[in-house]
Amino acid sequence: MERGASLVGFCDLGFAPVPEQPDLHYAVSIAVRLSDAVLKTISDKPSFTYFHHYRTANAKLDSVAFDISEKIMESGYNAFPVAASQSLGKNQPYNGVLPHKTAAVLSGLGFVGKSGLFLSAKYGSKIRLATVLTDMPLEAQSPVLENACGACTVCRDACPAGAIFGLPPQKDGTRNFDPEKCSKYMKEHFMDTGRGSVCGICIRVCPYNKLR
Ligand code: SF4
Ligand code: SF4
Repeated sequence: MERGASLVGFCDLGFAPVPEQPDLHYAVSIAVRLSDAVLKTISDKPSFTYFHHYRTANAKLDSVAFDISEKIMESGYNAFPVAASQSLGKNQPYNGVLPHKTAAVLSGLGFVGKSGLFLSAKYGSKIRLATVLTDMPLEAQSPVLENACGACTVCRDACPAGAIFGLPPQKDGTRNFDPEKCSKYMKEHFMDTGRGSVCGICIRVCPYNKLR
């Protein structure tokens, strides 16, 4: 936390996301908080300010994850920082090495909302996430939290792409939101303000976030 993270949690993923590193099945989940004031500048499209804020949060997360990795390696263990925002290329455009929300949920930091976003118990979805994989044995300090969206469907109703199904996460792992629709809409409508990769409407409208 003293390195600038807003939230930090630990867990044993129970699987190793990097095939070449089968011992790296523990994870440090890191979150940085986004600004309420900046999120309020999002309307029916992202703002230039939010776009910059989003990228700055990612850069900060990558820096914190780098520092944590160095600390872990200094302790004699291996570490693999997973970038805050990442795509594995044309074949897996919507996937990184690991969904950060998987580590965040298993660390007890929050739950996955109907928006498909991770909602931290403390800050809701007004955060960005990164993860460090390691072979340093780590135990979750809090139990996994259940989805707390209740009957709310505000994000589904507000999403201009129709990408949110309005369902809690499915037990069989089926997605409750369509990343392809989301991405297509952003590329078609938000090239000017979000470079086709940032929107934020589902964060802006979520009542769980209690924007001040
Ligand atoms: S980021 Fe925008 S387009 Fe994508 S799911 Fe959220 S509201 Fe819909
Ligand atoms: S807007 Fe409502 S349904 Fe969507 S993530 Fe937030 S609390 Fe859940």
